[in-house]
Formats: sequence, C-alpha cells, structure tokens
Amino acid sequence: MNSMYFTEEHNLFRKSLQDFLKKEVVPHIETWEKTGKIDRFIWKKFGDMGFFGINYPEAYGGLNLDLFYTIILQEELQKINSGGFAAAIWAHAYLAMTHLNAEGNDRQKKQYLVPSITGEKVGCLCITEPFGGSDVAGMRSTAVKQDDHYVLNGSKTFITNGVYSDYLIVAAKTNPELGNKGISIFVLDRDFKGITATKLDKLGWRASDTGEIAFDNVKVPIENLMGEENKGFNYIMQHFALERLIMGVNAHARAEYALEYALEYMKERHAFGKSINQFQALRHTIADLYTEVEICKEFNYSVTYRLNKGEYVVKEASMSKLKTTQVADEVIYQCLQFLGGYGYMEDYPMARLMRDSRLGPIGGGTSEILREILAKIIIDKKTYKPAT
Ligand SMILES: Cc1cc2nc3c(=O)[nH]c(=O)nc-3n(C[C@H](O)[C@H](O)[C@H](O)COP(=O)(O)OP(=O)(O)OC[C@H]3O[C@@H](n4cnc5c(N)ncnc54)[C@H](O)[C@@H]3O)c2cc1C
Repeated sequence: MNSMYFTEEHNLFRKSLQDFLKKEVVPHIETWEKTGKIDRFIWKKFGDMGFFGINYPEAYGGLNLDLFYTIILQEELQKINSGGFAAAIWAHAYLAMTHLNAEGNDRQKKQYLVPSITGEKVGCLCITEPFGGSDVAGMRSTAVKQDDHYVLNGSKTFITNGVYSDYLIVAAKTNPELGNKGISIFVLDRDFKGITATKLDKLGWRASDTGEIAFDNVKVPIENLMGEENKGFNYIMQHFALERLIMGVNAHARAEYALEYALEYMKERHAFGKSINQFQALRHTIADLYTEVEICKEFNYSVTYRLNKGEYVVKEASMSKLKTTQVADEVIYQCLQFLGGYGYMEDYPMARLMRDSRLGPIGGGTSEILREILAKIIIDKKTYKPAT
C-alpha cells in the first residue's frame, strides 16, 4: 500500500476491516441486495468495531483518527461489490453524522452522535426535493417558527436511508424570502408526528433504501435547530468537499476492483488457443484503464492529505468526483466487455457494478454542476470559504 500516505497502523486497520467485512458482511450481501433492506444487527457490529467513529471526537465515543482511515473504510466497502450497502454506511457516517458533529450542540451530539457511533441509531441527510436537487437554494420545504417550535412542511426525495433510519437531518427554509440565506438545518426523530416515507425502486444501489419523505405540519422543537438559523446553505456547501472527495475515492476503488477481477478472469479465459490476456487489443486497453485509475487514485490521496490538514479543497474535491466517477464508469463498462457474455450475467460481479457505478456522476452534485463550480473558480476567479 502507498507508503507516502499509509502507515503500518493504516495497513493493519485495512486488514482487520477486510477480515470483518468478509466474515460479517459478505455472507449477507446477496440477501440485502434482493430485499433492499440491510439487517439491523450489522449497524451495531460496525459500531462495536468503532468503524462509525473513526473520524469523530473521543468525547462522544469516536476515535479521532486521520482522514486516511476514512479513505480505507470507503475503499474496502467498494471492494465487496454492493454499492447500496456502501452507500447506506456512508450516508449515515459521512452525510448525517458530519452535520451532527459540525453543527450539533453538546446536547444534540449526546442524543444523536453518540448512538450513531455505537450503531444504535441510523441517520439520513435530507436535502434533495422532488422539484430539484441541483438547485439547493431553490428548495421549497419551509420551517415556520411558532412559539417554542417550528412547523415543517414540504417533501424530500432520493434520500439514502430515508425509510429505515431513526433520525433525519433536514434542510428547510426558515426565511424563504432570503433565498439561499434563509435555509436552516434540523434534526428530527423518525417518530415525530407528520413524517411519512415511501421507498423508491431504482436501477442500482439495490441494498440501500432510497426514500421519498413528506413532512406534513411536523412540530419540530426549537432545540432541534442545528447551528445557527439561516446558515444551512453554507453548512451544506462546506460539507460537499468531503462528500465529493469520498465519492471520488469510492469511484477509484470500484474501478480498481473491476480491473482486479477482470485481470484474473482474462488469465483463465481462453480463445483461439490462448489466454485472452494475450490479445494485444485487450492488453493495451488494460494499460490505458490502469493508467487512468492510478492517476485518479494518486490525485484523490493528495486531496485527502490536504483536506486532512484543514485546507478547504472545494476545487480539488469537485475535480476528484467529476473525473474519477467518469473513469470508473468507463473502466467498469470495459471490464464487463472483457468478460463477454458472462459480464452480462448476475452471477458475475460486473452487472451490479455497472448499475451501481452509474450513480457516481449523479448523486451529491451532478457532473454538470461540478463543471459549473469549476468554471466559476477557473474562469470567474470565484473563491469559496468555509462556513465555520
Ligand atoms: C440513489 C440516490 C441516492 C441519493 N441520496 C441522497 C441523499 O441521501 N440525500 C440527498 O439530499 N440527496 C440524495 N440524492 C439526490 C442527488 O444528490 C440528486 O439526484 C442530484 O443532486 C441531482 O438532482 P436532481 O436529481 O433533482 O436532478 P436536477 O437538478 O433536476 O438535474 C437534472 C439534469 O439537469 C442538469 N442540470 C441542472 N442544473 C444545471 C445547470 N445549472 N447547468 C447544467 N446542467 C444542469 C443536471 O446535471 C442533470 O443532468 C440521491 C440520488 C439518488 C439517485
């Protein structure tokens, strides 16, 4: 493993994680992919192993480790080939919990972050709305203050863990007339009256539940506001750097997995009296794909290094997601081709991998939106600053 970024401790962590996933997760993946529901016991096992707390403060039960442990977690989750399971884990640990840790007060952290780290509570992050996801500032959900509570109305869609989570981190407009300066973030218990969720059917990520959620006059106590009122948009944007880097890392890891599998297959598969890995056309394609993945991986590690040091890497994280998700789709498409007809079969990993990978350029900021951000930085010299 790359010694420039990974120490012996990192490597030991990776090994124990691999063993854990092989023993505790892999035997259940086929069932969860079929039912679209991840058994609850695994959340607690992840919690017991400390996997949900690796980058969170010790004061709340976390391990406060550097960001490369998070990268290892994400990479290894991709290599068991269930984009849905990996998504469910990171939507909890790096979407919902990131907000809890950054904007939550001590009471909120004790109530939600601590049981999230132990795996007793599962969270989701609700930003996207049926009327539009890219235009975050255009969201229509409202939270109107009345005495000691807010009244929340509106709807969210495509929410990972949106059906089975215990709590929801929700963005809504507290001052709609202020546009993106009127958005606030709340934490809601699933059993607050007026919340309903419907599970959506989808192309890939089949093990994870993706929900459409309606809020009908939900009374949200004032103490469930997270951070400052009307600062929500800034909080959301700030966390996109980590989210997008993670999506880039996920993409290089699943591309690597596809290549590793395809190489083994090509060694064993024969045509015209020789292994198919001896055909020059395929060898050159492998050389090209490997080059692309390796370059993305090195770039993603360097961005991780800078983010870990506290740099605000909006530009680099956008580049990471934009480029690596595109490369992963191309690599996986081609690896499926290397397997011929078997690539198209569900008994082989490429079919699921291709379905799951397609979400990369869509979720957490589409490729078009990332190009918009990058164009503003590069051409208009726009600068972005962290909210806190
Ligand atoms: C499986 C899955 C899981 C998800 N999980 C979550 C989650 O947990 N929480 C959450 O909040 N969201 C989640 N999302 C939502 C995801 O982030 C959005 O789908 C994404 O941001 C795009 O929003 P949209 O689907 O509304 O597309 P739109 O915003 O309607 O965009 C449609 C098309 O128009 C393009 N477009 C839009 N604006 C521009 C522009 N200015 N310039 C050029 N092109 C543009 C887009 O790139 C896209 O191609 C999930 C989505 C999926 C599919």
